[in-house]
Amino acid sequence: MDPEHPNIEHQPSSVQMQDVMDDAARWQVKIHEHGMMALVDVMPRLVPVGSTADIAIVQAARVSYGEGTKKINEDRGLIRYLLRHRHTTPFEMVEFKFHIAMPIFIARQWIRHRTANVNEYSARYSIVPDAFYHPSAENIRAQSISNRQGGDEPIDPATAQQFLDYLDRCESQYVQYTDLLDKGVSRELARIGLPVNIYTQWYWKCDLHNILHFLSLRMDSHAQQEIRDYASAMFAIIKKIVPITAEAFEDYQLGSEHLTRLELDALRTGKPIETTNKREIDEWQAKQERLGLAPISMES
Ligand SMILES: Cc1cc2nc3c(=O)[nH]c(=O)nc-3n(C[C@H](O)[C@H](O)[C@H](O)COP(=O)(O)OP(=O)(O)OC[C@H]3O[C@@H](n4cnc5c(N)ncnc54)[C@H](O)[C@@H]3O)c2cc1C
Repeated sequence: MDPEHPNIEHQPSSVQMQDVMDDAARWQVKIHEHGMMALVDVMPRLVPVGSTADIAIVQAARVSYGEGTKKINEDRGLIRYLLRHRHTTPFEMVEFKFHIAMPIFIARQWIRHRTANVNEYSARYSIVPDAFYHPSAENIRAQSISNRQGGDEPIDPATAQQFLDYLDRCESQYVQYTDLLDKGVSRELARIGLPVNIYTQWYWKCDLHNILHFLSLRMDSHAQQEIRDYASAMFAIIKKIVPITAEAFEDYQLGSEHLTRLELDALRTGKPIETTNKREIDEWQAKQERLGLAPISMES
């Protein structure tokens, strides 16, 4: 009992507990040359020995479903059921806090995910470190023909070199930045001439439901490769903390295929998809390939 607050009862845990982060201060992964992602905290941090943080999902779900369910569903089955049927709030009971260093062009995409709590490094208050995202020549992608927002094939070496020279020139602004700071220009203004491949960092806290949403969008092949690298690193980390949910996510979301009503009709009838929209037709053809189905000819 707390003598100052006698009405607050401290109830000891009835089972032995363990730290889901193995008593580590952070789990850090290097990303690209200057980037990193570090898990700094998790809720629940302490779980019964032999359990994982998945237990918080089960615990929350059983409040709504009652003890009776416990006998019918074992934990793994319940979590898989909840994810398959797109339940949300039990997964919001688990939270992750990351410390992340990424280039500003990635941060701009990332910040669109509005359900996280974010605190970013202030370039008005502090001097921006001299670190830029500078891909190697073989990682410079040509503009994709199929995806206007993307890049895929590697580009020819001469153009890759031209791109790297262009980045070098952008990054050389850093010398001017520090020079102008030395001459008394305010930090909040001096930084505005720096390119978007310079690094920023933030603390990012988000619940598991919204992290899975973030991952499903940012691990997808339509997302930019650089943010995909971060999303994949995040998934590798959370997989260690919530392995049952991560497995269900891989089975029911990452590795799944969504079919529209028009696509289902085409499947059922064996006829071409009922649309003249070229993009939709192309998407259906790509899905049929992924599903291992013989494409249904548009001629028939
Ligand atoms: C491949 C790709 C390309 C993109 N291209 C562009 C682009 O060209 N231009 C552009 O501007 N953006 C672009 N985006 C960003 C995209 O449109 C979304 O803003 C971003 O993915 C965040 O998605 P979200 O709103 O579902 O996620 P979150 O903000 O994390 O929200 C999660 C969910 O919470 C709910 N929610 C959150 N906030 C609200 C709210 N205020 N009102 C109602 N519901 C809410 C919604 O259901 C939402 O799906 C792109 C994203 C991807 C993945």
